[in-house]
Amino acid sequence: MAIRTILHYPDQRLRVKAKPVPVVTAEIRKLVEDMAEAMYAAPGVGLAAPQVGESHRLFVIDVATEDESSNLLVFINPELVNLEGEQIWCEGCLSFPEISEDIKRAETVTVRALNEKGEPFELTADGLLAVAIQHENDHLDGILMIDHLGVIKRRVIHREMLKRQKDGDQEASASRG
Ligand code: ZN
Repeated sequence: MAIRTILHYPDQRLRVKAKPVPVVTAEIRKLVEDMAEAMYAAPGVGLAAPQVGESHRLFVIDVATEDESSNLLVFINPELVNLEGEQIWCEGCLSFPEISEDIKRAETVTVRALNEKGEPFELTADGLLAVAIQHENDHLDGILMIDHLGVIKRRVIHREMLKRQKDGDQEASASRG
């Protein structure tokens, strides 16, 4: 089966506030599988449903390094119930390929969510996992990494992404003949 396409900025679907998942159905579990597949293929450490054009409050994360065994975490209807401290991490995003910027986030985050079986859990994370949880949770509210940057950096990245979109369109129409 084809791997799901990840939307790139400035696709307007990335700006839509996602809807809560009322019940964790077989369709939702299939979406979770598809998203994990797309995330590992990219490769990336996290992917939120709006990034594949699905307006659901869910994301997947796996921060295991290549020599560690995979550790897929699924967060459905997540709520960040506590944020503490501060850290700066050089973040990337699958919706902004090849762009990375230093972004300030909380050092420690406590999140409550449902897993892929629909069971509630609570997790307190720090370091990269805390960053990834905050980054992916932002996607559910239509907030993107550039929203955390100063106006000049935001402008530079915006223009770069518009330019790529334009170049991509030209390549697409050229290949269509
Ligand atoms: Zn992202």
